[in-house]
Amino acid sequence: MNSPSENPSVDDAPILHIDLDAFFASVEILDDPSLKGKPVVVGGGGDRGVIASASYEARRFGVRSAMPSVIAKRRCPGLIILPGRFDRYEVYSRRFHDIIRDLTPEYEPLGLDEVFADLRSLRRLQVRPIDAGFELRRRISDELGLLCGVGLGRNKLFAKLASKESKPTIVDGRLVDGPGVVWVSPAVERTWLDELPVRSLWGVGPATAAKLHKLGLRWVRDLAQVDEATLAQHVGRAMAATLVAYAQGEDNRDVTVDRAVKSVGHDQTFATSLVGLGEIVQAAKGHAAIVARALRDANRVARTITVIVRFDDLASVSRSQTLSFGVDDEYAMAAIAEALLQSVDLARSVRLLALHASSFLDRDDNNMQLTFGLDPSANDPREQAEAVSRERQVSHEALRDAVDDVRQKFGRTSVGTASELTDHGVEIKTQRGSHAFGPEADQNE
Ligand SMILES: [Mg+2]
Repeated sequence: MNSPSENPSVDDAPILHIDLDAFFASVEILDDPSLKGKPVVVGGGGDRGVIASASYEARRFGVRSAMPSVIAKRRCPGLIILPGRFDRYEVYSRRFHDIIRDLTPEYEPLGLDEVFADLRSLRRLQVRPIDAGFELRRRISDELGLLCGVGLGRNKLFAKLASKESKPTIVDGRLVDGPGVVWVSPAVERTWLDELPVRSLWGVGPATAAKLHKLGLRWVRDLAQVDEATLAQHVGRAMAATLVAYAQGEDNRDVTVDRAVKSVGHDQTFATSLVGLGEIVQAAKGHAAIVARALRDANRVARTITVIVRFDDLASVSRSQTLSFGVDDEYAMAAIAEALLQSVDLARSVRLLALHASSFLDRDDNNMQLTFGLDPSANDPREQAEAVSRERQVSHEALRDAVDDVRQKFGRTSVGTASELTDHGVEIKTQRGSHAFGPEADQNE
């Protein structure tokens, strides 16, 4: 599809589709490296279980997602079936979306591991879609340890079909690398589409495929010649219209951007890696100041606080806590962050620290009174942190209002809290990660 001499502009390749490879299974392997090289799947292990995600090792045995687990076990006797941990997948999914957002805010998540992006707003930046695709793959591999495929085309239909073609395949039980990025150029669209099986089209599941096969329609080129009214008698009017349009290469669906902000965060990669809990907690306080202010600007409080720590060897760990009330106070947030960091093994030096706040409430709906009178258990550090956080959230209210008030009147650097004081006066860090995450996470790891 791509010849090296072709480097299309965003007008020739406006839509990008990116899909993480074997996502759930790959996250399980990242979290437990002893699974590496073994046939791992995520899914239901019981008699009625279905495979949700299969590692390429498992695929070598003919195991596929959506396959009943009973069949998968028969094909691969040593198959390791894991139940799935969506809190972990959501953490990775958010970081995946963060990387996409660095390219463009014009993206639409599809599930946890797929994204469409519309590249047209990048025209003025002279972004080359194929280069952008390879750069996304590089970052996702370097920063998340995950592999993915990228498809580019005139519309969603071609972009999605192309990303599928970009992926590794199994040939005679051997894994063969894919090209990684595939662009369907307008010049080859027609012939390329004609050669695909009808099953590869969006919305054609096994049942529809069986009906089409019965009608002698096996390839997209067969569909391109069929009479829509006749087809409608077999698959229904809506499906017939969709299939005929797809077979002509037409797909008018836009990339729909979800602009509702579901999470606010601040990520920082340090010029010199941090060592030890003390340094990292100090940095987290600075993060909390930035995130808390962003929340107050948005009139929101957040119930879930997440810290993500990335070590020099690029391994990372995340911890979350969801409170019974919302916080928008930096000290209240820092209390939670500190407790979360205490639960992380910080023997290695830390190159990146992220602090995210999610599960928003309107500030006016944050009824702190409801949570009073709960006695924290002396041996549960989470309950203790929550108690400290609640005390700070309540007792600092007047201070927060005063600080915000002065800032509004006299500018953002007129007054700062301790964590913002530098040799040059008050330094308000710019917020680098203002995250519009796809899936709302409510993890309680
Ligand atoms: Mg995928």
